Formats: sequence, structure tokens, C-alpha cells
Amino acid sequence: MDRLTEAVESIANRKDELFALLAKLVSQPTVSPPARNSDEAQSVIASQLADMGFAVDRFQVYPGDDNVVGRLSGRDSARANSLIVNGHIDVAEVGDETGWTYPPFSLTLGADGRLYGRGVADMKGGLAASLFAIQMLREHGVELAGDLLFQSVIGEEAGEAGTLVAIERGYQADYAVVVDTSNLHMQGQGGVITGWITIESPTTLHDGMRAQTIHAGGRVRGASAIEKMMKVISALQELERDWAVMKAYPGFPAGSNTINPAVIEGGRHAAFIADRCALWITVHFYPNESYEQMIGEIEDHIRRAAAADVWLREHPPVFRWGGRSMIEERGEIFPSLELDANHPALAQLQAAYERELHAAPVVDMSPTVTDAGWFAHAGIPAVLFGPGELKHAHAVDESIDPDQLVQFAQIMARFIASWCNTPKEAKE
Ligand SMILES: [Zn+2]
Repeated sequence: MDRLTEAVESIANRKDELFALLAKLVSQPTVSPPARNSDEAQSVIASQLADMGFAVDRFQVYPGDDNVVGRLSGRDSARANSLIVNGHIDVAEVGDETGWTYPPFSLTLGADGRLYGRGVADMKGGLAASLFAIQMLREHGVELAGDLLFQSVIGEEAGEAGTLVAIERGYQADYAVVVDTSNLHMQGQGGVITGWITIESPTTLHDGMRAQTIHAGGRVRGASAIEKMMKVISALQELERDWAVMKAYPGFPAGSNTINPAVIEGGRHAAFIADRCALWITVHFYPNESYEQMIGEIEDHIRRAAAADVWLREHPPVFRWGGRSMIEERGEIFPSLELDANHPALAQLQAAYERELHAAPVVDMSPTVTDAGWFAHAGIPAVLFGPGELKHAHAVDESIDPDQLVQFAQIMARFIASWCNTPKEAKE
């Protein structure tokens, strides 16, 4: 038997070790928000990487939340394909635990044969299985010619830019697999950007002035920022409808590209005319669109609507887009990922899947967003591929099928061994 086959078989034979690693990660309550609580979980990852021979780079994104990036240098790095395996260590909030059948921060094998615990599907399962796949490759002496990078990032659940920070630190590769929840589908995704649109008056008028600002002969050009925001909201609705009518992308229901007026804040007191109003919007866009393009389309449309208003044309709305954290900045960006169906890495991942499961994988679009878009945005081709189902992620009694976890690890072992041993110039 060749070394790779031995490694892949040992994943199944030693699956209890994989579950033990997952149990260690689940026992760390890395819930976000509040976040700033991932140090111990990241230490588990960092020491696992170090034990496997990775050079470990641990760096702070926020106090109490470090990214961990490990690099296993290939024996022919310059000529063979490199790979990034990326996942987030934070998990969704739990809130009231009384609804849980099993304790959320203790991995439990349920009566139905599924593994229970917060994060097993989203996405400590993907992290643990990827690490175990690499461990089995190492223990069975499967050599890699290209570099293998493993990134355990923080903050994804709260729109925090852990993956972006890792990319900005200079980590690059020929391909990236984000092992977030996809039920073993190979997926691209649409994108999300949030933004604040603010209308502000340079003068603050007393409520008693209202009659002069709205009635004949008043001769005061003032405005309620709240009322002016109504024009912005209706302009956004027109644009949203135009997008729904005019844009489409395979794999998405028509009209998925929405502009949600999610939060509004305005006015200071009943005794004043509102001199400030801010609207927080959430914009969903398709894989073939960039967030920069969405910013351009929305600003252009709102500026034209504002120019048609006698007061707004002098006091145009101000935009603040995105952000690196919903917690710190009340803003986030998830760039889109357009899947390159002809990429040789995807072909190798598909081949690994077929080898293990004797069926063709589903290649489609994620109905949600993950960090995978950051790689596409940085020019690194990527795919979203991980174990677990979205309906279990974030849910009470989050669970995963242990067999799928093992299958995922086996597919990853085959894919890593294949891709990192393919010459860069001959990308099949
Ligand atoms: Zn996730």
C-alpha cells in the first residue's frame, strides 16, 4: 500500500483521535460576540501545528484574539503549488443554554449517532478534520513539494477581518480552501457589505421653527434629517428593485441582491427638528460583482436623488462603508467569490472527492457568506469546502455527522497530497 493510501485509511481507523481534537476545540467557548476569548483555543491549534513541523506565526488582531498561521515548507517550494487551508476559530453565540439537549461546550455523541457541540458544524469540525488529515499525511511520510499554510483566524462570526489581516501580513498561495460549513459542496458565494448613510444639518432648529421651514412665506430653508432620509430610503428601494429586475446569477434566486435598511438612528429630542439621521444598510451582491462596484452604484444613485432635492443638494448624504468588525466599528465586508469551475485545483479536489465517495460532488453557490471572498479579493483562487450543514450551524443543538467529518478529512488528505505535489507551471 502506498503512503497516501495508508494515511487516508488511518484517518478512518484513528477517527477517535480526530474527535478528541475536536472535543478540545469545542471545550473552548470562543463565542463571538463578545469575542476576545480565543487565546486557549488558538494555543491548541498552534501547538498541534508546531508538533507537525509547521513554523507557527501567532499575531494579535484584537487583545484576546490572535490569528495563528502555520507554514510547512515544501521540499520544492519554488516549483510546486502552494495551498492555504483557512478556518475561523470563533463560534456563534449560545445565549440561553437551557434549550440545549447536550452541553454546548462539551463534545457529546448523541443517541442518534451525531456529534453535538457549539461549533462542530461552523466550523471547528472543519478545522479539526483538516489538522488531522495533515497529521496523518505527516505520520505516514507523505511528502509535499509545495508549501502548505494553515490559517486559524478570529472574528468571522462578528464580521471581523481575521482573514483579511492574515492576507495583509503577506500570506499568499496558489489556491485556498476555506473549510467553513458547506456540507461537502464545493462553493462560491455572493458578497455582503454594510454601510452608513448619514444626513446632517449644519444648523439645529427648535421644534417651534418647523412651521417656518415647511409653510408658505416661512422663508427658512431647514429640513428634518429624518424626513430627508425617507427620500434616501425610497431611492434605495428603487435601486433594489432595478437590481432584482436587471441582475441575476446562476445558483441564486432572483432578487437575492437586496439592500436592507436595517437600522435607523436620528433626532435628538422632541423639542428640536432632527438635525441628524443615520441609516445602516446591508447590501447583498452577486459573485461577479465587487463591493467596490456596489459602493459606486449606490453612491451614484443616492447623489442623483439628493441633487433633485432643494435642501439635500446643498447638504448631500455622507457615506461610510464596510468596516473590520461589527463589534468595534459597526461595519463589515464579505467580498464575493466567483468559483473558477476550470481551475486545476478544483478539478483535483473533485477527483479526491470522487475517489473517496464514488460520486460527483455538488458544485454550487453558498446561500451565506464566509471568509472565502477575501482570497478572491486578494487575487488568490479559492473554494468554500467544508463539513457540516448550515441548518445546524448557529442553531441550538448544533451537530455534525461524524462519518462526514472523517470523509472530509480523507478528501482533504488526498487533495493536499495531490495539489502540493503538482508543478506550478504545469497546472494540468
Ligand atoms: Zn463559519
